[in-house]
Amino acid sequence: MYNTIIIGSGIAGMTAAIYLKRANISCLVIEKSSPGGQINKASNVENYPGFKSIDGPSLALNIYEQLTKLEVDMKFGEVSKIENKLGKKLIYVNDEILECQNIIVATGRKPRELNLENEKGLIGHGVSYCALCDGIFYKNKDVAVVGGGNSAFEEAYYLSNICNRVFLVHRSSNFRASALNQKKVKAKENIIIKENEQVKKINEKDTYLNSITLSSGEELKVNGLFIYIGSDPDTSFLEGLNIESENGYLIVNENMETNIEGVYACGDVIFKKVYQLTTAVGEATVAASSIIKNND
Ligand SMILES: Cc1cc2nc3c(=O)[nH]c(=O)nc-3n(C[C@H](O)[C@H](O)[C@H](O)COP(=O)(O)OP(=O)(O)OC[C@H]3O[C@@H](n4cnc5c(N)ncnc54)[C@H](O)[C@@H]3O)c2cc1C
Repeated sequence: MYNTIIIGSGIAGMTAAIYLKRANISCLVIEKSSPGGQINKASNVENYPGFKSIDGPSLALNIYEQLTKLEVDMKFGEVSKIENKLGKKLIYVNDEILECQNIIVATGRKPRELNLENEKGLIGHGVSYCALCDGIFYKNKDVAVVGGGNSAFEEAYYLSNICNRVFLVHRSSNFRASALNQKKVKAKENIIIKENEQVKKINEKDTYLNSITLSSGEELKVNGLFIYIGSDPDTSFLEGLNIESENGYLIVNENMETNIEGVYACGDVIFKKVYQLTTAVGEATVAASSIIKNND
């Protein structure tokens, strides 16, 4: 039985593991995909202290290597359910049920979809949520990016160095992206901003994306559509625990503990104001430290 099971190995989960392991608290990290989480999708990170500029996967790998060096136990699989029985936590993963005293939920967020017909069916055939992963498939082709925040602007900029033209489609003329990101994008000749427009239709030809139709009726002939319209937490596996939440985001106190004793949360899965790497790292540090202190 582990003292603590950490669900999710994004930057939050991995940070918590580093702190727990170094304090000699037995812990296991469970990950359903690959270590690093969302940051694996970032082409360039320039606001993480210690690195003037680093691509997301390299940052994720650096942290993962720290875990490997510390010999942190990892299990790959998706947690489907958690039960709280007489203070013990039961974690359902793959075909196993694991037991522990404390849980750190660090399951982050997943990209929001446009919910258009064809969207799901064309994933991998033109529709993508990760420019860094799929951008190269659209070398010298025209693509569209949807969104008005930092992720949309950063990834449009990244794609503009690979693709022929990048259409940046946003539903208003107010962008949430930072002034610096807006300046960089607006200076690129092959990025064409389509403001006050929405993608209304995704058009398919021979099982591949062929064009998109905008709300004005304009049809853009593009081979790729990269969607960056925000993200949502997936906390369905916590149903039944009665954890307090706001729009799916878990509510925690200053110790990063939820209303259920022994269930902590940190990173993008919690209800907070700033969703960044630095905040995720800070919250994970607090969550792990609370467990370490309670163990004294
Ligand atoms: C394209 C992009 C660019 C970004 N650029 C920046 C930037 O430049 N600077 C910055 O500060 N932030 C940036 N961010 C935001 C930053 O990546 C997030 O704030 C941060 O990664 C959140 O970390 P996390 O550990 O909380 O969650 P996540 O990174 O979402 O990790 C959660 C992990 O949990 C796993 N998981 C989920 N459910 C389960 C389950 N049921 N069982 C097992 N495992 C599960 C997931 O597979 C994932 O690996 C960017 C985000 C994106 C998408």
